[in-house]
Amino acid sequence: MTLPVHTAEATPTRPTTGPTTARAQLLNDRTVDDYRRAVTAGTERVARRVAEVTGPFTGVRPDELAPLVDAIDLDRPLGDTTAALDELDGVYLRDAVWFHHPRYLAHLNCPVVIPALLGEAVLSAVNSSMDTWDQSAGGTLIERRLIDWTATRIGLGPAADGVFTSGGTQSNLHALLLAREEALAGATPTDRRVLLPRLRIIASAAGHFSVQKAAKLLGLAPDAVVLVETGPDRRMRPGAVRHEIARCRRDGLPVMAVVATAGTTDFGTIDPLDEIADGCATAGVWLHVDAAYGCGLLVSPTRRHLLDGIERADSVTVDYHKSFFQPVSSSALVVRDGRTLRHATWHADYLNPARMVAQRIPNQVDKSLQTTRRFDALKLWLTLRVMGPDAVGELFDEVCDRAGQAWDLVAADPRFEVLTRSPLSTVVFRWRPTGPGRELADAANLHAREALAASGLGVVAGTRVDGRQYLKFTVLNPATTGDDIGYVLDLIAEHAGRYVHTHAASSPAVDLTCPVG
Ligand SMILES: *Cc1c(COP(=O)(O)O)cnc(C)c1O
Repeated sequence: MTLPVHTAEATPTRPTTGPTTARAQLLNDRTVDDYRRAVTAGTERVARRVAEVTGPFTGVRPDELAPLVDAIDLDRPLGDTTAALDELDGVYLRDAVWFHHPRYLAHLNCPVVIPALLGEAVLSAVNSSMDTWDQSAGGTLIERRLIDWTATRIGLGPAADGVFTSGGTQSNLHALLLAREEALAGATPTDRRVLLPRLRIIASAAGHFSVQKAAKLLGLAPDAVVLVETGPDRRMRPGAVRHEIARCRRDGLPVMAVVATAGTTDFGTIDPLDEIADGCATAGVWLHVDAAYGCGLLVSPTRRHLLDGIERADSVTVDYHKSFFQPVSSSALVVRDGRTLRHATWHADYLNPARMVAQRIPNQVDKSLQTTRRFDALKLWLTLRVMGPDAVGELFDEVCDRAGQAWDLVAADPRFEVLTRSPLSTVVFRWRPTGPGRELADAANLHAREALAASGLGVVAGTRVDGRQYLKFTVLNPATTGDDIGYVLDLIAEHAGRYVHTHAASSPAVDLTCPVG
């Protein structure tokens, strides 16, 4: 049997009126040239900006930008790609925060690798949806291979499985949902009602806030997350974890999970995973390792040992968009026992009826909290196929080295004090005034951060530690040099010093010396 073939003769001529103009914007066999032109034009705009920017930010303020955005009438289209790109340049690209710039040193945002951007362009154009095989086909298999690859890197064993997610927050929520359901396994509805408010999660005081958020979403009690104070090394103490497990047990509070962190957001520290795993194994408690940040070590040619013990976790969060140089979003939840993923399964007659399970149709929706879901895995796939894991790991090694140099630089500088040295790529420090105005130190550090961002010359983060204001470098760009770090430190000291000078001079204590009059 011959299939019908589209020929030039068979194609009706395009009318040129109303609905046709709209149809011309749909990507299909007739519009591929427009698609090529539009995407190329967009890429060209971004490339031009990337080539031109001289700092990580312009320092634009919300009150300067908001009127420009507000003035755009969304009901009156420009009808033209070039005009829309011109407009976008003014409201977004010109004043964007650029993570590729070597003096962007603030949050866990990485510069992105080109193969991943290629993946992004492909995945959104094909627009596969990862919920069911009949919406993704090969995409599902590619995602599964990457989950298996990640699980193997972690060392989770043959029963491991997982799924890509939108980010670490979702991965942590998902992990804790599985842990909750495992803790409540076999409970009657009445038991569940009694047990739910009693469940406890033991987590680090230096861990990520998404754990508390997850506890709230999972219907646990407001005090469900028991925070264990860290030592001066900002790592969870295994003894304290064991102690809290025992204390909860004594109080009749079942511990549903311990959350250890491989790469704390603020300090870049890694909890002693092996010893914490010992405590969890003895007590039979689910161990979740939040490696949203530290997952880059999975491919590090020199530092993989820093994650030793992670292979004993029941579930692991990995954010490829933190330390694999992937564009947002790219994250996964990986579990030791794939069967636990059933806790997120719901059979809908229209989508994934139980019959499909019997037929072994690989529907990822059975494992995911999401339904329609991006094929984010493609970005990592192309990254691995073009560059390979070692190359990614070398990039991550480089930023860890650079952060070590930055720490040395700050530690040797009398203008600053610095906290715990991170095995990853974070430096937490603060400017310290030496003369009068010492009480203004917190405000001066806060001011320095804001003034630096406003100048557009550098962007750093801030955090509070033991009630005091600190500044933070998160180095994720191999292009950042020691000179960049030194330059930013000088700027911070200058802004902070000027702040203290101005405010100490006008403080009442100083004013008293002025003649009253
Ligand atoms: C960033 C981060 C998260 C949250 O991940 P998102 O991708 O931002 O949702 C969770 N845990 C840690 C340790 C993180 O650093």
